[in-house]
Amino acid sequence: MKLTIELVPRTCFYTNVRSEVSRKTWDRLRKMSYIKADYACEICRGVGPTHPVECHEIWEYDDKDKIQRLLGLISLCPRCHEVKHIGLAQVKGNLDRATSHLAKINKVSYSYAHAQVRAAFDVWAQRSKHKWTLDISWLKSMLNDPKPKKLSTAEENRVAKKLFFDLYNDK
Ligand SMILES: [Zn+2]
Repeated sequence: MKLTIELVPRTCFYTNVRSEVSRKTWDRLRKMSYIKADYACEICRGVGPTHPVECHEIWEYDDKDKIQRLLGLISLCPRCHEVKHIGLAQVKGNLDRATSHLAKINKVSYSYAHAQVRAAFDVWAQRSKHKWTLDISWLKSMLNDPKPKKLSTAEENRVAKKLFFDLYNDK
């Protein structure tokens, strides 16, 4: 899977799943995503130095009907996650680092990655001119799931491995 930039239009009133559900529910969704990814980045398989992965919301934009649709969650290493929100990286002065990571992961030149970044900002500017209708049916389907699936032994082992990773890195 290649790394892409996903800028949320300024006009999308809905900003993140975290603010929409209880802490407990968010943690459950996040944990399910981490387990699915085996605690490694789903794009580059890398892990972060302090925590292995972060949870990223995948949105789809229907530019014709102006619908912002939640497709699901993905686990990303902090560097790939930074590329997804490259607008924020720019604000924090990390645009260069994020562009370099984009180039590295996609095996393209820095200037090609830079052009991708500019194109993403253009799309963002266009999308920010419109109001968007929200479709979070994915989240609703997850919340309707009455009880979380019991973890298999293999999954429990992965959770244990993650806990060990946290302890090991907690200096
Ligand atoms: Zn990554």
